[in-house]
Amino acid sequence: VSTWSAVPAGPPDPILGVTEAFKADKDSRKINLGVGAYRDEHGKPYVLTSVKKAEQILTASNPDKEYLPITGLPEFTKAAAKLAYGSESVPLQEGSIAVTQSISGTGALRIGGAFLARHYPHSKVIYLPVPSWGNHTPIFRDSGLEVRGYRYFDKKTVGLDFEGLKADLKAAPEQSIVLLHACAHNPTGVDPTPEQWAQISDIVKEKKLFPFFDMAYQGFASGSTTRDAFAVRHFVSQGHQVALAQSFAKNMGLYGERVGAFSLTTSDAAERARVDSQLKIVIRPMYSNPPLHGARIASTILGNQELYAEWEGEVKAMADRIIGMREKLYNTLTSDLKTPGEWGHIKSQIGMFSFTGLSPPQTKALAEKAHVYMTADGRISMAGLNSGNIEYFAQSVDAAIP
Ligand code: PMP
Repeated sequence: VSTWSAVPAGPPDPILGVTEAFKADKDSRKINLGVGAYRDEHGKPYVLTSVKKAEQILTASNPDKEYLPITGLPEFTKAAAKLAYGSESVPLQEGSIAVTQSISGTGALRIGGAFLARHYPHSKVIYLPVPSWGNHTPIFRDSGLEVRGYRYFDKKTVGLDFEGLKADLKAAPEQSIVLLHACAHNPTGVDPTPEQWAQISDIVKEKKLFPFFDMAYQGFASGSTTRDAFAVRHFVSQGHQVALAQSFAKNMGLYGERVGAFSLTTSDAAERARVDSQLKIVIRPMYSNPPLHGARIASTILGNQELYAEWEGEVKAMADRIIGMREKLYNTLTSDLKTPGEWGHIKSQIGMFSFTGLSPPQTKALAEKAHVYMTADGRISMAGLNSGNIEYFAQSVDAAIP
């Protein structure tokens, strides 16, 4: 008997499974709206010009391939913290932010989960929004935390369930950990307004909850890295100590390079040094030290005024193309096709994803009859739409609605 004969087959990943079904479809009209990666106007993957230029600079400097320190490239982590917290940030200026490079956003969440499981003194419970990115639950569960949910999305309004959110955070045991999507909530595309963030901050303070921000889309939501960092910066300005996971997958298009950062704000430089030492102890047995190339690209862009400006323009162009597709989809469904239903959420939602409100049977019918692929919850990646396929998509949605 084989050693592994009792290993049961696991279910396929709900998101990556969509891409497999798409690949197997031979129809020329097929559209993949499952994948969370930016596509250009022609439906192709897009490498940013600022990234290509940074790579040319790097190649010309003929760098070595030595190991990085456990917490990564210092120029990169410094620049990443500045991008997130802002140059005016008090903890940044005081040198009290503990920050480490990570294997993109996923790795940052995992380091954070493991660090909190070991060192957060008050609770092992983390509250996630319902729904949340599908990988959040396994990441935190495998980190040793207990995962619970707080209400976030209201199916009836296809918007934020703000009353439910407030009630659930108020009912959570004091000092629980709460995960907050900093901007461009995945999968719903529904974010709190600045006023609602201020109220959430007050509840988090009152209940002594510990805020853990996941910022996978800074710049990608509104087109402005500053505006998208509002929630994180507001919480810090209100005196909260925060944990933060950052990803450069979306905003620099560095998906496969795996560039990210995890940080914690601490009370002073001496505490930061102790926290840093424990971050190293968490990371060393996981993967020893992070990869070089992507962090070099990101730090080259963030550290060079000209490239930085070019990158900001490119982030804005990506965000604007998506916002334009929202507008076009809304107009086609409502004005041209007169599709039954209320479609305002297509325009008001933000970031890469939109929760269409399509039901699992409707999404199944769209795949089988129209060759249009999305996750079963009705989430579409707006980046998969372009002027060549948006009308066909809108017509297919129209046909799927009774
Ligand atoms: N958090 C959220 C909310 C995400 O949507 C994603 C990417 N889909 C991530 C984290 C992490 O992605 P990555 O590891 O590629 O940076």
